[in-house]
Parts: sequence; C-alpha cells; structure tokens
Amino acid sequence: MPGNSKFPEQEQRSATGAASPRERGEGEDIAIIGGGIIGICAAALLSEAGRSVTVFDRTGICEETSSGNAAAFAFSDVLPLAHKGMIRQLPKWLADPLGPLAIPPAYLPKLLPWLIRFWRAGAAKHYETSLATQAGMMKLAEAEWMSLLDRSGTRPMLREEGSLEFYESEAEFRASLPGWAERQRFGIGFRHIEGEEMAALQPGLSPRFVKGTFVPGWKTVADPKLLGKAVWAYAEKLGARFEHARVERVEAGADGATIVLADGTRRTASKLVIAAGAWSHLLAKNLGDRIPLETERGYNTTLPSSAFAVKRQLIFSGHGFVITPLQTGLRVGGAVELGGIDRPPNFARSKAMLEKAKRFLPGLDPSGGREWMGYRPSLPDSLPVIGAARAPNVYYAFGHGHLGLTQSAATGRLIRDLVLGQTPPLDLTPFRPQRF
Ligand SMILES: Cc1cc2nc3c(=O)[nH]c(=O)nc-3n(C[C@H](O)[C@H](O)[C@H](O)COP(=O)(O)OP(=O)(O)OC[C@H]3O[C@@H](n4cnc5c(N)ncnc54)[C@H](O)[C@@H]3O)c2cc1C
Repeated sequence: MPGNSKFPEQEQRSATGAASPRERGEGEDIAIIGGGIIGICAAALLSEAGRSVTVFDRTGICEETSSGNAAAFAFSDVLPLAHKGMIRQLPKWLADPLGPLAIPPAYLPKLLPWLIRFWRAGAAKHYETSLATQAGMMKLAEAEWMSLLDRSGTRPMLREEGSLEFYESEAEFRASLPGWAERQRFGIGFRHIEGEEMAALQPGLSPRFVKGTFVPGWKTVADPKLLGKAVWAYAEKLGARFEHARVERVEAGADGATIVLADGTRRTASKLVIAAGAWSHLLAKNLGDRIPLETERGYNTTLPSSAFAVKRQLIFSGHGFVITPLQTGLRVGGAVELGGIDRPPNFARSKAMLEKAKRFLPGLDPSGGREWMGYRPSLPDSLPVIGAARAPNVYYAFGHGHLGLTQSAATGRLIRDLVLGQTPPLDLTPFRPQRF
C-alpha cells in the first residue's frame, strides 16, 4: 500500500547481518538514486564515513552503462572532447552512418541547443580552462581509485599494461602530436613507436598501421561490472543497503528530501544524491534545475577471450573504437551516437566496429560475441555536474560522459565532502550544476 516511511529499521541490516550505522544510532539517512559506478562509489565513501546509505536503482547494482564500458582508468585522458581537431573531423565522421559519430536526423532538432554549447566549449578560451580542470580532476581520480582499490580489497582487479594507439598514415600521426604535447604539459608519459617495437607490443596487427603511441601508465580493470559489484559488496559490509525501485519523482525542503517510487510509495532522507546517469536531468528538473544532459550512446561486442591474444588496450582513434582484454572476454567497441534515451539500439554499429577489428587484427575470430549498448551521460563542456542542487539537501553527481569509471572514486570523495560539509580537495566551481 502506498504510504510514507523512513527507511524501515529492520531493512537497515547489511547482507552480512552486521548492525548498520543507523542501527547504532549514528549518522542520518542518505539516499542515492542510481546504482551505477558513480552511485556505488558515493555509497562506499559515505558508508566509510559512518553514514547510513540506501541506494535506489530500477535494475540493480552496476547493471546498466557502468557494466559494459571499455574498462579504462583513463587518467591521462585530459583533453576536452570539444576541440578544434575533433570538430574538424566531424563532417567526415558524420558522412558515414555507421562511423565513429552519428546523429539520427530525427533527433537533430532536439539535440541542436546541446550541439551549439558543445561547439562553443571548443573555443580556445574555454578549452584551456577545461583542460586544466580535467587535469586536476584526473590527478584526484587516480589517487582516489588507487586508495579505494586498496581499502575495498579490489586491487587485484587492476591491470597495469598500458595502452597502444595506432595511426594509419604519417599525416594522421602528425595530426595527433599537438594533443600529445598538451598531455606532456601535465606530466603524462608516452612513447611514439613503430616497426619491431610496435609489433612486439601487439603481435598480429595489420601492416596498414604505420605508427603508434604507447602510454605505459594507462590502466584498465579486469571487468567494470565485476569491479562495481565488488566495491558495492564493500559498501554493503559497511552498512549500505539497496532498494530495487524506479524513482518517479523527487522533492526537497529544509527538512530533507522525499523520493516518490513508481509504486506510489514514498521514502524520506536527510540528504539525497542524484547519480542516475543519463536520466539524472529528468529528476533535477523536479527540483527546478535545468541541466543540458544528453547521451552519447556507445556500442560494443564482447567476444570470448580466445578470439585473439590482445596484450593491452588498443585504441583506434581515427575509427572511434578500442579493443580491451578483460577477465571475462575481449571487448570491441566505442563510437558515439547522439540519439537520446528513447530510441532502440542500432546494433549495426557494433557489427561495423567488429568488422573493422577483424581487418585491423587479421587473426581475430569474430564469432560468439555478445552485443551491448550503453548511455554515456554527457554535458556539452565534457565536465560532470558535481555539486549542490538549487533545492536544499540534494547533491548531483552525473554527466561523466566517456570518463565515468575513471572519475567515479573521485566523485564519491567529492560528494562525501559536500554531504559532510567538509572542504573538497578541488575547486568545484567548474562542475557546479548552475553553470549552464
Ligand atoms: C561504449 C562505452 C565505453 C565506455 N568506456 C569507458 C571507459 O573505458 N572508461 C571510463 O571511465 N568510462 C567509460 N565509459 C563511460 C562510463 O561507462 C559512464 O560514464 C559511467 O558508466 C556512468 O556511470 P553512472 O553511474 O553515472 O551511470 P549508469 O551506469 O548509467 O548508472 C545510473 C543508474 O541509475 C539508474 N536510474 C536512472 N534513473 C533511475 C530512476 N528514475 N529510478 C531508479 N534508478 C534509476 C539506472 O538504472 C542506472 O543503473 C564508456 C561508456 C560507453 C557507453
């Protein structure tokens, strides 16, 4: 029966049966909407701080976009997405309906305001600020993940094999050099390679690739879904709990926040964190915040591990996809489809990337794969929203685009600091929800 309830006391026990912080009479209730990697990390850090946390999700823990991504801790990926080099590539990419970037024509009118903001974010004056902000965030991201891996006992899931990016011509290689120079400014290590060294770092590569760049510090994880679930298990041991439910609406006031579930029941919390990925703006709208969140839909195919001996993450930037060796298979995918949250997936995109992968690694066995699509939650300036809502007692943590796995532990840390009223280690002005 629909009704009003604080989180029921008997449900506060963790799966391990340990008394929760709330049962011990410590802390207040914190609700997090979204059990993706952002919500999970926020839950872990708030639980460590002794707060009583409940995560609400309509599917489960790490079951949607955070489950199937390319598994990279892309700490060196500091270049904002909108930049002149990328914008120059747009006409070529858009001309290929199954290429690295697609916009379904029917969606263009709805997308246009976001595209204009994206275009403006690429202007030189914004670019420098975004680059410096992203570099600062990545420093924190690496420190926070390395520490959380240790605290949660998940470090064995880290793979420190570096990455390899490939170029099909001297011209493509030369065009990449300004981007590498920018990374060098922020102390990111890399080495341009060719010939025997390239073949040794990845045997079996097609000779169409004439040069490459090796980034030794690039890290990946054994499987993003398994990592998310393992970090959740850690949070749960500390008392965090999960409620399987779709949130219909949120309200907030001086006394706290109310969550209205799809079955009509309500939950109240002292503090609310909205970490609902590509759907977050729909809830923010309830609270009077209009945030231009779009989704860059991405596709992949996960093959059996036996498909090819891939040594480390392989990056084909000119074609907009990567190949990642995981504990659970070989993942081939990427691409961006600016197509909103309602349109059905077009798995011809996964197939097109797999077909290219077969050409780039001629020995690859493309059979037996599982196709997938996920929704990167993306803001036009390539920075997430991390900060307080207009309404009291509500915080936002969404919009991490291509970098949600990478920046999730840092976001968890920043949200924890905001909720606890502590000073965060970064200036959060560039991330504030009201910047648009
Ligand atoms: C192809 C692809 C490759 C990628 N590769 C990488 C990579 O290598 N490295 C990297 O750092 N990032 C990568 N990303 C990006 C990364 O996956 C995302 O940024 C990240 O997963 C977003 O996490 P999230 O928690 O914000 O959202 P999600 O994982 O989408 O979680 C949001 C959750 O909120 C729930 N939810 C939404 N609305 C409601 C509601 N009303 N009620 C209840 N529950 C709700 C959903 O069920 C979902 O579980 C990639 C993305 C794609 C698509």
